[in-house]
Amino acid sequence: MVLLGAPGAGKGTQAKLIEERRRIRQLSTGDILRSAVERGTPLGRTARSYMDAGQLVPDEVMLDLIRETIGSGAYGSGFILDGFPRTIAQAEGLDRLLADMDSGLDAVISIEVPDASIIQRLGDRCTCEQCGELYNLSSRPPKKPGVCDRCGGGLVRREDDAPQTVARRLEVYHRQTEPLKAYYAERRLLRTIDGDRDVESIYGDLEKAWGPGGWELDLQAGG
Ligand code: AMP
Repeated sequence: MVLLGAPGAGKGTQAKLIEERRRIRQLSTGDILRSAVERGTPLGRTARSYMDAGQLVPDEVMLDLIRETIGSGAYGSGFILDGFPRTIAQAEGLDRLLADMDSGLDAVISIEVPDASIIQRLGDRCTCEQCGELYNLSSRPPKKPGVCDRCGGGLVRREDDAPQTVARRLEVYHRQTEPLKAYYAERRLLRTIDGDRDVESIYGDLEKAWGPGGWELDLQAGG
């Protein structure tokens, strides 16, 4: 399954819930890239300048990364893609890759949130530097300021959540990623969800969008 949506729409939060409750792994290209940047690997060194500027990492780099990650088998045969694909070229590359594996997408779910809410959310967002748990200082604050409820780690803000970078990321989303909605609608895979609500309401809709028969239902068959 692919989760689409602007930065801060809640893809990561929802993917983590699905992972916990349904045991389907989240594959977040943003998380993989941030870890590569932190470790100073060649991938991290390539990606860093693009990420800091709120731009997309080039398609060839991302397709190599996704090929390696899925090909490694670590994610098994079913996973939730969070933050990939982000361009038509990436979507076409993913289709080819999955076809080579005799596989394909079950569903593409777009979590829709107006820009004004995104700007507010990302201004309030912070993450645990140890376990990656996500917080929002207005809607989901930690019990103790600056400390993760789950593991006691320190909370940090992402560098690319700075206001001018958020504006750039939103512009990139509308120009390069939003056209994927039409791409997947044509393939009858797209479902959209109102993401400007609380986490559990969105999760409830995600389960419904996946199909009334549960997580195994093939949405293509249902149309
Ligand atoms: P995210 O955590 O998904 O918001 O990703 C953070 C940053 O990583 C993005 O702003 C991009 O610079 C980069 N990135 C993540 N996924 C992709 C992708 N599929 N294509 C290009 N760049 C990506």
